[in-house]
Amino acid sequence: MSAREALANLPLPPLLQPHRQSAAARDRFAKIYSRPVVLEVEGVTRTFTGESGPVRALERLSFQVHRRELLCVIGPSGCGKSTIGRIIAGLDEPSGGRVVVDGNEVRGPGRDRGMVFQGYTLFPWRTVLENVMFGLELAGKGKAAAESEARPWVDMVGLSAFANAYPHQLSGGMKQRVAIARALVNLPRILIMDEPFGALDAQTRAEMQAYLIQIWRNVEVSIVFITHDLDEAVYLSDRILVMGANPGRLLETVENWVPRPREPGHLDSELFVATKRRLESLIHRDRPQVVDRLPIVRMTMAGDDVE
Ligand code: ADP
Ligand code: MG
Repeated sequence: MSAREALANLPLPPLLQPHRQSAAARDRFAKIYSRPVVLEVEGVTRTFTGESGPVRALERLSFQVHRRELLCVIGPSGCGKSTIGRIIAGLDEPSGGRVVVDGNEVRGPGRDRGMVFQGYTLFPWRTVLENVMFGLELAGKGKAAAESEARPWVDMVGLSAFANAYPHQLSGGMKQRVAIARALVNLPRILIMDEPFGALDAQTRAEMQAYLIQIWRNVEVSIVFITHDLDEAVYLSDRILVMGANPGRLLETVENWVPRPREPGHLDSELFVATKRRLESLIHRDRPQVVDRLPIVRMTMAGDDVE
């Protein structure tokens, strides 16, 4: 047995033992699972050609997302999170397997899927309103129709007063709100978000998370939310896909039993912390511990110890 397998077989410490599922959580998941499946990822494999041979970015990844579900995808850097996001969006193709949305196999980008990235991707020469109108105009709508359809989305993300502002006049959080409005204006079935709040400061990030939940509550959309922030995953998700790297693959799907609606007080509740610890242990057990093996060269004088 390898060291990694031995680690994986260790029993979980008591804090990590699954909590009992509350009746409310059981009902919530029964409701989620009774809804139709909107997104099916079926045995998706993606191999890239790297400089030193093939890179197995994804290996036989399978999961489903139900209507109105908010699924988070977590895992260490390089485990294929962005790759699966791009494949679902139709911006990249699997080497094997397939992605199905509402029964139709994905063959490229489409209006049934919206995407929000970490980097700000607004058109700098277009106002907030014009940025949101863009997808509608692309779909062949006239300017007047596009404007009247776009405006409620600008209002929804709280930017009515900034409809005529340009991206450079907005804060990072505001830009991402425009990006969300722009992705939702075409009424996609699935919103794919790849570390959308990763570049924001902690305070703005927390606001945006609360904001996203508010939007999701009011819009008919399922969300695939990619993050490497475990707090963010536990705060937002119904279920969490935990991925491992080399090759990129599914380690486990975790049901998040933290009650909804999520209140600020839940963030340090025992269940919240236990769920987070469970995610940490899943990721930790799959990762070689680099720090223990780093060769340390002493670069300071003897007698100058700090601890
Ligand atoms: P994550 O988003 O989880 O950090 P990515 O999906 O970006 O991971 O990448 C997964 C793996 O695939 C990494 O090893 C990355 O270097 C590799 N990879 C991603 N895109 C390409 C590409 N276009 N060409 C070659 N390798 C790639
Ligand atoms: Mg990524």
